[in-house]
Amino acid sequence: MEHYRVKPEKEIHLKDYETNESSAFDGKKKDGKKRLLELNEELETLQELLYAEGKHKLLVVLQGMDAAGKDGTVRHVFEGVNPQGVRVSSFKVPTAEELAHDYLWRIHKQTPRSGEIVIFNRSHYEDVLVVRVKNLVPEKVWKKRYAQIREFEKMLVEEGTTILKFFLHIGKEEQKARFQARLDDPTKHWKFNPDDLKVRAFWEDYQQAYEDLLNKTSTEEAPWYIIPADKKWYRNLLIAETLVKTLKSFQMQYPANSVDPSTIHIE
Ligand code: AMP
Ligand code: MG
Repeated sequence: MEHYRVKPEKEIHLKDYETNESSAFDGKKKDGKKRLLELNEELETLQELLYAEGKHKLLVVLQGMDAAGKDGTVRHVFEGVNPQGVRVSSFKVPTAEELAHDYLWRIHKQTPRSGEIVIFNRSHYEDVLVVRVKNLVPEKVWKKRYAQIREFEKMLVEEGTTILKFFLHIGKEEQKARFQARLDDPTKHWKFNPDDLKVRAFWEDYQQAYEDLLNKTSTEEAPWYIIPADKKWYRNLLIAETLVKTLKSFQMQYPANSVDPSTIHIE
């Protein structure tokens, strides 16, 4: 995974990152799927421990172009975890009330509490993506947001939150295929939004906005990972591996109980 982490000191160019490779796993798709099942189980156990111990807070940020697989990642990576203690927050076009506040207001309210994992399906990064590409606020306003976001995340980390940020990097051709699949399959048709084609028309602008935010907001304490996302199984595998590794690094313990079980007799 180190290979995919954006190091703060080194400027990256998105064009150097392939969207359809799977080089960090030496196995085939079916082996990758089998490995994911093992990771699902590990994640289930670790999440229960996180909840029981109630010390750590984990925030997982998912960003990517339409059809990059944000919803699929939530479904497949978190398969089997106890819904109590894991929460998904999806950020849509801001409401009038949200717009009447600063852009981090709605975000901060959704951050994880102790013992909880929260997955952001889109996030505050929309405020330097769609907002930038569509000129929803003047440049001098969005330009300041990179530093604000770094500071905001730094504060969350200092207060005990662990942050992992995944950019699901898909190719333009793969997006086309996935849109077409949504049109062709009656059970997926509901996911097709004609407005997504308008966003697609600004592909290069979005890639540029992503490249900038990756360079400006990947820090030691809140790193970005660029996930090759054309292969769904590989995307799931990389993210699941990173989550398991991170949770293991917490070295959690089940909380002690002062009750000696041998002294208890239940009638
Ligand atoms: P979806 O994730 O497909 O349900 O779409 C949500 C839509 O909300 C996307 O088009 C996002 O670009 C848009 N969105 C999310 N956050 C913001 C924001 N802060 N400002 C404007 N649009 C946003
Ligand atoms: Mg959509």
